[in-house]
Amino acid sequence: MDWISHFIFGLSVTRLIYLDRPLDWNKNRTFILLVAAAASLFPDLDILTTHRSELHAPLVLAVLAGIIGLAFPIYFRPLLTGFLSHSLLDIFLFDNSKGTIRQIIDTAITNDTAASEVNEAVVDGVAANGIMLLYPLSRQMYSILLTETTYAFAAILILCVAVITVYLTRSSTDTYR
Ligand SMILES: [Zn+2]
Repeated sequence: MDWISHFIFGLSVTRLIYLDRPLDWNKNRTFILLVAAAASLFPDLDILTTHRSELHAPLVLAVLAGIIGLAFPIYFRPLLTGFLSHSLLDIFLFDNSKGTIRQIIDTAITNDTAASEVNEAVVDGVAANGIMLLYPLSRQMYSILLTETTYAFAAILILCVAVITVYLTRSSTDTYR
């Protein structure tokens, strides 16, 4: 998934898991959101070495959040939530076997050379085999392939989570203020 989806989803889920802790939330909201935002994007730092490697493995991320959480407990929840929301989304892969991405680009760019350059850049950027769900127990990659329709469905689902979060947040703010 793209970084905007990771960002929106990570922040939404983080907000949701603080619904039962309004005092914590009201006191540290900016801090929590900053940590969650960083955490929801953090696993993609492995793009500098091997994309979707160990940094995308839920166990590795949970241990990392745990270690940081032992030293600084306030970091634990937003870190863990941001990290795991990222892993979860990256299990989903877009099925480009029929050249859908190129078709979309062709509707916007008429120049053939330019279109194929953009296509290569985009396909390289999203190319992956899923994540190592069980690492370090196994290096097997796990993924769920999405077609055009189901990918759109997943994107809509992420937006729905965000909208529901905003809705719940508004009513909880009303209650606790
Ligand atoms: Zn990723």
